[in-house]
Amino acid sequence: MTMSAVHRVFDALYAAFGPQDWWPARTGYEVMAGAVLTQNTAWRNVRRALANLRAIDALEPSALMAVDELLLAEQLRPSGYYNIKAARLRNLTAALLMDGGMEAWQASNTAMLRQRLLGIKGIGEETADCILLYALHRPVFVIDAYTRRIMARLGLAGGDEPYARLAALFEENLPRDPELYNEFHALLVRLGSEVCRPRPHCPRCPLRHLCPTAQTIEPVEWGR
Ligand code: SF4
Repeated sequence: MTMSAVHRVFDALYAAFGPQDWWPARTGYEVMAGAVLTQNTAWRNVRRALANLRAIDALEPSALMAVDELLLAEQLRPSGYYNIKAARLRNLTAALLMDGGMEAWQASNTAMLRQRLLGIKGIGEETADCILLYALHRPVFVIDAYTRRIMARLGLAGGDEPYARLAALFEENLPRDPELYNEFHALLVRLGSEVCRPRPHCPRCPLRHLCPTAQTIEPVEWGR
C-alpha cells in the first residue's frame, strides 16, 4: 500500500462524509466504557446502556465500582452479553483505579499502557486501541471488521492479516496524528456500516473510482 493510496481513500471519504465528530462522549472514562460495551453490538444499543449508567450516576470510575454487580449487569442489558460486559467493565475500571486513575494513564507511555490494557481480562486489541486513540489521544490506528472488509475490497490488503500488520499499513503510511486516525477510523466505520456492507452498495460509494471490486449495478434485492 502506498502513501498516496491511503491518502486517496481518506480524502474521498472526508469529501463525501465530512467530519464525523467521533467518539461521542463527555469524558475519557465514558469513551472507555463505550469501547467495552460496543463489542459485538450496534452503537445505538451502547447509547442506551450508557444512558442507564448515567441515570444511576455510575459513569465515573469509583461510582461504577460501588454499584452492585447484578444492578450493573442489568443497566448494561441493552448492549447484549451484559454479564460478560459488566465483568469486563469492572476489570478495566479496577485496573484504572489501581494505577491511579485517568491522570496516571494520561501520563503513561503508549506502548506500556497498551500492554497493560491487553493484560486486562476481556480487553482485546481493538478495544485497547479504541481506548488509546479516543480516550487518551494516542496515535494508534484502530482495526475493526469494517476496516478489514473495506481494505480487502479495495485490494489494499488481504483482509485476514494479523491485527498488527493491518495497523502498520496505516501507521507506516500516515503521519502519527491522533486527530487524523480518529477521523479516518470514524469514516471507515461510516462507510462500512452504511455503504460497504456485507452486500455492498457500490453505485453510492465515494470510493468506487478507487475500488477494483466495485459493482456498477445495484444488486437485486431478492424477496422484496
Ligand atoms: S465500491 Fe463497493 S466494494 Fe468498493 S469500497 Fe465501495 S461499497 Fe465497498
